[in-house]
Amino acid sequence: MDSPSRSSVIIIGAGVSGLSAAKLLAENGIEDILILEASDRIGGRIRKEDFGGVSVELGAGWIAGVGGKESNPVWELANESGLRTCFSDYSNARYNIYDRSGKIFPSGLAADSYKKAVDSAIRQLRIQEAEFCGSDLSNATEPPSTPKTPIELAIDFILHDFEMAEVEPISTYVDFGEREFLVADERGYEHLLYKMAEDFLFSSGGNILDSRLKLNKVVRELRHSRNGVTVTTEDGSVYDANYVILSVSIGVLQSDLISFSPPLPRWKTEAIQQCDVIVYTKIFLKFPDKFWPCGPGKEFFIYAHERRGYYTFWQHMENAYPGSNILVVTLTNEESKRVESQSDEETLQEAMEVLRDMFGPNIPDATNILVPRWWSNRFQRGSYSNYPLITNDQDFRDIKAPVGRIFFSGEHTSERFSGYVHGGYLAGIDTGKAILEDIGKNKERQNDQNQTFLLEPLLALTGSLTLGQTETTVVSGPHKCEIPTQLYLSGNIGIQEAIL
Ligand SMILES: Cc1cc2nc3c(=O)[nH]c(=O)nc-3n(C[C@H](O)[C@H](O)[C@H](O)COP(=O)(O)OP(=O)(O)OC[C@H]3O[C@@H](n4cnc5c(N)ncnc54)[C@H](O)[C@@H]3O)c2cc1C
Repeated sequence: MDSPSRSSVIIIGAGVSGLSAAKLLAENGIEDILILEASDRIGGRIRKEDFGGVSVELGAGWIAGVGGKESNPVWELANESGLRTCFSDYSNARYNIYDRSGKIFPSGLAADSYKKAVDSAIRQLRIQEAEFCGSDLSNATEPPSTPKTPIELAIDFILHDFEMAEVEPISTYVDFGEREFLVADERGYEHLLYKMAEDFLFSSGGNILDSRLKLNKVVRELRHSRNGVTVTTEDGSVYDANYVILSVSIGVLQSDLISFSPPLPRWKTEAIQQCDVIVYTKIFLKFPDKFWPCGPGKEFFIYAHERRGYYTFWQHMENAYPGSNILVVTLTNEESKRVESQSDEETLQEAMEVLRDMFGPNIPDATNILVPRWWSNRFQRGSYSNYPLITNDQDFRDIKAPVGRIFFSGEHTSERFSGYVHGGYLAGIDTGKAILEDIGKNKERQNDQNQTFLLEPLLALTGSLTLGQTETTVVSGPHKCEIPTQLYLSGNIGIQEAIL
């Protein structure tokens, strides 16, 4: 339990967003920062684990948005730090759709179903748009169709759950390009973060040794006023700061892990509750040998089952790590939660049954399974934010807006790139800049107030002054100077309180 002196800024959360904010502040002369991280590591949703002899990414796996007119900053960081990546193209997945008897659907049927699903999604979007704007729906063409057959359900899952459900045009692809690269590096995606941290936190041999980063510090309470914020952690430590950057996930904000005193205003809590949280789970399975097809266009394959999202989307890791004999299956939302609540043995059994449907009864059992639990993790409560397709811009602005001295950051505060690593990275920079601006303004106000304070007795000597006068008053005596009387009007009284 410790209670160090007051910091300029406390950053809560050492994910990509918290770290990019901290780095920006440090580079701009705010060095008395403190980073409080609940878990025993940095990285947050960027997290690798050793599995089956290689390093697998439990959280973010891809750098999405590469090869476009602008350079994705995360792609730049990856290049600077020599991160190993491999090109991913899951557009071929639709041609590798297996039914429950192990037959692959003919490519024509798959392409037709895909087109039907895309058209239907577009119609659905138009209807939602019309409803949102209160427009007349009487001219709407045929209503969107509901997927029913296993192949339709599988394609619906890929469109809406695997590829992110976002409104076109998707900023990530428009701005940064349509290519995606899978991180396949033993040092993990998190290597980027260690490289970033090294620039401003004292590190040695790949370990961060700087006392301004405190791990295993679970923030439970923020007491805030217009003068600053007092942060209390689960172990009873208390820290004071002029500002706080809260970069925990939207899922954590929706939970009761952190309490606020005074409570957050209603406009804030309501906006936070408006945002959906996606649970996205990559389950890794290790095999003694490979029994699935490899080669061009075969990296991704799909299982069509009458239950939507039931072990639908598969990937082999031969492109990333040849000879690793690892498969990954992606589950989302309700299926993710269901699997999180059962034992890994049960999940292994289910996955093996599915694989035997596709590849026959003689395939070997998996020797190992890894099931991440993003939903049950109280420091995450989900995988990433998902703004409703038709979003009220005000909700988004409210999620991001500071409350007094508490500034919000994280992927969910990135207007154009929410849900992505680059969203978190850019949001951190934005929040860092917003605090620098506020510090600047406060300094100006402080200077103004100090001048006023010093000059008050002298002004009293000069006789009565009317507030709002703009003419210059000349004071004689030891503190001879010129005072624009407007100074009386500046100062921040009431502004922060009004926000609260
Ligand atoms: C399974 C999965 C797959 C994904 N795939 C991709 C992908 O392929 N490409 C992509 O670009 N993005 C992907 N993402 C999203 C991406 O990982 C996130 O957008 C990004 O990492 C979020 O960073 P952040 O800093 O906003 O939040 P986080 O990384 O969540 O950082 C917040 C930090 O706050 C800490 N914290 C929480 N509560 C407290 C507390 N009370 N006190 C102190 N600390 C606290 C957490 O431990 C965490 O370290 C994926 C995410 C998941 C989970």
